[in-house]
Amino acid sequence: MPVKTHKYSNGEVTVVWKPDVCIHSAICFRGLPDVFNPKNRPWVEINGASTDKIIDQVRKCTSGAVSYFMNAEKNDEE
Ligand code: SF4
Repeated sequence: MPVKTHKYSNGEVTVVWKPDVCIHSAICFRGLPDVFNPKNRPWVEINGASTDKIIDQVRKCTSGAVSYFMNAEKNDEE
Protein backbone atom coordinates (compact mmCIF):
# COMPACT_ATOMS: atom_id res chain seq x y z
CA MET A 1 0.00 0.00 0.00
CA PRO A 2 1.41 3.41 -0.85
CA VAL A 3 2.33 5.62 2.08
CA LYS A 4 -0.25 8.32 2.66
CA THR A 5 1.14 11.82 2.37
CA HIS A 6 -0.24 15.29 2.84
CA LYS A 7 1.46 18.29 1.31
CA TYR A 8 1.36 21.90 2.45
CA SER A 9 2.98 24.55 0.29
CA ASN A 10 3.50 28.29 0.72
CA GLY A 11 4.67 28.58 -2.87
CA GLU A 12 8.34 28.43 -1.86
CA VAL A 13 8.65 25.36 0.30
CA THR A 14 6.42 22.30 0.51
CA VAL A 15 6.08 20.37 3.76
CA VAL A 16 5.25 16.70 3.30
CA TRP A 17 3.61 14.90 6.20
CA LYS A 18 3.19 11.14 6.51
CA PRO A 19 0.52 10.53 9.14
CA ASP A 20 1.32 6.83 9.47
CA VAL A 21 4.93 7.62 10.32
CA CYS A 22 4.16 10.42 12.78
CA ILE A 23 4.74 9.32 16.37
CA HIS A 24 3.11 12.47 17.77
CA SER A 25 6.21 13.29 19.72
CA ALA A 26 5.07 16.93 19.80
CA ILE A 27 8.50 18.24 18.89
CA CYS A 28 7.14 20.20 15.99
CA PHE A 29 4.22 21.81 17.72
CA ARG A 30 6.22 22.73 20.79
CA GLY A 31 8.87 24.25 18.58
CA LEU A 32 6.67 26.06 16.09
CA PRO A 33 3.04 26.12 17.27
CA ASP A 34 2.04 28.83 14.79
CA VAL A 35 2.60 26.29 12.02
CA PHE A 36 2.13 22.88 13.59
CA ASN A 37 -1.03 22.73 15.66
CA PRO A 38 -2.89 19.44 15.92
CA LYS A 39 -6.02 21.26 17.08
CA ASN A 40 -6.36 22.95 13.70
CA ARG A 41 -7.60 21.45 10.44
CA PRO A 42 -5.45 21.23 8.47
CA TRP A 43 -3.03 20.90 11.36
CA VAL A 44 -0.17 22.48 9.36
CA GLU A 45 -0.62 26.23 8.82
CA ILE A 46 2.04 26.69 6.22
CA ASN A 47 1.73 30.48 6.30
CA GLY A 48 2.27 30.64 10.07
CA ALA A 49 6.03 31.23 9.88
CA SER A 50 8.81 32.04 7.46
CA THR A 51 10.18 29.40 5.14
CA ASP A 52 13.48 29.32 7.09
CA LYS A 53 11.74 28.67 10.39
CA ILE A 54 9.60 25.95 8.88
CA ILE A 55 12.65 24.19 7.44
CA ASP A 56 14.52 24.42 10.77
CA GLN A 57 11.60 22.83 12.56
CA VAL A 58 10.98 20.13 9.97
CA ARG A 59 14.62 19.03 10.33
CA LYS A 60 14.03 18.36 14.02
CA CYS A 61 11.36 15.74 13.41
CA THR A 62 12.97 12.54 14.69
CA SER A 63 10.66 10.09 12.95
CA GLY A 64 10.91 11.53 9.46
CA ALA A 65 7.15 12.04 9.38
CA VAL A 66 7.62 15.54 8.09
CA SER A 67 10.02 16.43 5.35
CA TYR A 68 10.23 19.29 2.92
CA PHE A 69 11.37 20.24 -0.53
CA MET A 70 11.94 23.60 -2.13
CA ASN A 71 9.38 24.14 -4.87
CA ALA A 72 11.97 25.68 -7.19
CA GLU A 73 14.18 22.58 -7.00
CA LYS A 74 11.26 20.28 -7.56
CA ASN A 75 10.26 22.22 -10.66
CA ASP A 76 13.79 21.89 -11.99
CA GLU A 77 13.57 18.13 -11.71
CA GLU A 78 10.34 17.90 -13.63
S1 SF4 B 1 7.92 16.13 15.16
FE1 SF4 B 1 7.48 14.65 13.55
S2 SF4 B 1 6.82 12.81 14.62
FE2 SF4 B 1 6.72 14.51 16.06
S3 SF4 B 1 4.59 15.21 15.95
FE3 SF4 B 1 5.80 16.42 14.53
S4 SF4 B 1 5.60 15.36 12.57
FE4 SF4 B 1 4.98 13.94 14.15
